[in-house]
Amino acid sequence: MTPSIQLGLVAGDGIGPEIVPAAARVLEAAATDLFTIDWHPLPIGHEAIERYGVAVPAETLAALDRLDGWILGPHDSASYPAQLAAAVPPAGAIRKHFDLFANIRPARAWPGTDPIAPRADLVIVRENTEGLYADRNMFAGSGEFMPTPDVALAVGVITRAGSERIAREAFRLAEQRRRHVTIVHKANVLTMTTGLFRDVCLEVAGDYPDVTVSEQFVDAAAAHLVRDASIFDVIVTENLFGDILSDLAAELAGSLGIAASLNCSATRAMAQAAHGAAPDIAGTDTANPTALILSVAMLLRWLQGRHTSPVFGEAAGRTEDAIGAVIASPIRTRDLGGTASTTAFTDAVIERIIGTSSRRRERGSTRS
Ligand code: ATP
Repeated sequence: MTPSIQLGLVAGDGIGPEIVPAAARVLEAAATDLFTIDWHPLPIGHEAIERYGVAVPAETLAALDRLDGWILGPHDSASYPAQLAAAVPPAGAIRKHFDLFANIRPARAWPGTDPIAPRADLVIVRENTEGLYADRNMFAGSGEFMPTPDVALAVGVITRAGSERIAREAFRLAEQRRRHVTIVHKANVLTMTTGLFRDVCLEVAGDYPDVTVSEQFVDAAAAHLVRDASIFDVIVTENLFGDILSDLAAELAGSLGIAASLNCSATRAMAQAAHGAAPDIAGTDTANPTALILSVAMLLRWLQGRHTSPVFGEAAGRTEDAIGAVIASPIRTRDLGGTASTTAFTDAVIERIIGTSSRRRERGSTRS
């Protein structure tokens, strides 16, 4: 029987209504003959504010709760009405609600993109719920406050449990890659907080004897990324360091427009590009949908880890191969120096998937 999955389609703001449908079209093509998808379009951001008066309606959260995963478009919370702009931004609220503690951000140089670091092929495993992220690191209230108009404080949170689960995620991932984890911290200054993070990661390393481990201060890691990103395989780090290093690594490996990312726990996964809503180009059909399409491929690989049938991994492979081929061709969006529209680029990726699949089918029927 053909497997079927239930996926949420959350367009969001800015370029979201252009790139989210583009990613869904690519997934439909990649899933051909493998599995079927029941789509569940759900509002956040401006669309939700118009319908429900809030950027993240309870109805959207309840519907997401029933799904196998979802594709989240970007949000432009700076443009919300003042009373809503102060709230936790939609992506943060959704990550917190579903305890999506792991933010997996690959930085891989794709041929044809003229990257600063052409040999980069690394993954940053970023802890997503703690650290200095005041909007999500407290059970109630905020981790950031002002006792007087001239004093601002922020509380950083690192827990043993939070560090352990993200470390396990990183070591499991390294087992499927080049088997090296670099723990990034600042334990020479933040000795208790990032020191605890480092110590717990080193303890977890003991359970993965096939994976080698090293550690670096975050400032040194930034310098090493620029000098030679190819020395890194998997980097595990706390929330803020991971946020900054992953944007740096993404730019070194090509562009934010191709930087994929998955937010997940053991039971939930959300494909979300690393970039924002890009309001400056919204509505112009010029956004690069690659980051989101590759994030969807990551979602497929996450689903594969929970299913015995190989169909999801196969669809992820089809997607990645097609993206690689189209990016290496002259069909590129503006951010990569080309002239292709979002629609034209997406069509080219779909044609590539369909063409490759039909050639594969023809070869199969010739053999049989
Ligand atoms: P956020 O704070 O939500 O990350 P931001 O404004 O800091 O948002 P982006 O929205 O990611 O950052 O935009 C940064 C720049 O990158 C903008 O010039 C934008 O046009 C460009 N950009 C971002 N995403 C894409 C994309 N998918 N395709 C083309 N250009 C993009």
